[in-house]
Amino acid sequence: MKIAFIGLGNMGGGMAANLVKAGHEVNAFDLSEDALAVAKGSGCETFSDARDAVQGVDAVVTMLPNGGIVKSVYTDNVIGHAPEGAVLLDCSTIDVTTAKEVTAAAESAGYDMVDAPVSGGIAAANGGTLTFMVGGTDKAFNRAEEVLNPMGKAVIHAGDAGAGQTAKICNNMLLAIHMIGTAEAMKMAEKLGLDPQKFYEISSQSSGYNWSLNDYTPMPGVGKQSPADNDYKGGFATALMLKDLRLAMEAAETADAAVPLGARAASLYEDFAGAGNGGLDFSAIIKTY
Ligand code: NAD
Repeated sequence: MKIAFIGLGNMGGGMAANLVKAGHEVNAFDLSEDALAVAKGSGCETFSDARDAVQGVDAVVTMLPNGGIVKSVYTDNVIGHAPEGAVLLDCSTIDVTTAKEVTAAAESAGYDMVDAPVSGGIAAANGGTLTFMVGGTDKAFNRAEEVLNPMGKAVIHAGDAGAGQTAKICNNMLLAIHMIGTAEAMKMAEKLGLDPQKFYEISSQSSGYNWSLNDYTPMPGVGKQSPADNDYKGGFATALMLKDLRLAMEAAETADAAVPLGARAASLYEDFAGAGNGGLDFSAIIKTY
């Protein structure tokens, strides 16, 4: 298959390399010369114009920073420029409204399109072990699966257009809430004189168990190895968690959904990132307790 890949940053670089490894021909486009140089090293053919990159391809994959950029890339360079039979896959994390709008525009121009955001960070992008949550028609999903498989360990059809983005932001809102809850409970246990390791042993096998406590423990030296044991370096950056929480709050408003805990989590991460901690893993929020 011939695939255009637009947006070869931290995530896209490794994803495009995995498409090359799977035997696909990959046309790479990014605004950054450095990103293009890395893509070239991975075996992609590089282009200095996005419209040239999408000529004659069977699929277009995008992995871009935000909804505004996704919309302009599809409107200006993909729709009407890629061959009409191409399947379009946006793997960026963006707002649900823009995801639906871009898919509608693509569909009215005759393309199949999916929103296919990912769970898993840079290591999973490099290792081809991302989880894709996919929104789109059955036909678009079936066509997209072949493109996504070499980049992931799971490809799940979430529902219609926008359902992938919905799944992603609801999941990450829940993640923020249970991380904060875990941090709060661990620090309170410690302040009450309970050894945090004992709290971990008990709660991780009791009704308090959850992924943040059991698999990503925010306190150094307790539980499994996690970014807390590496000074909160690596992992899932606070700035990216904040981005997802802002998208979740925006979506909650459009759906008139009540999210009191999500809103509190968003404001706690807003303050934590604003204090210069955007680059730390999101579990570092425990430092505020
Ligand atoms: P990044 O900033 O490293 O990469 C984005 C790339 O897009 C950059 O190379 C940039 O030059 C390029 N770009 C920007 N505008 C462009 C344009 N108009 N045309 C072509 N290229 C353009 O970001 P990332 O960490 O790779 O994240 C990409 C997406 O994946 C985001 O939506 C992010 O929320 C999502 N995501 C990231 C992670 C993570 O751990 N980094 C995890 C899950 C999801």
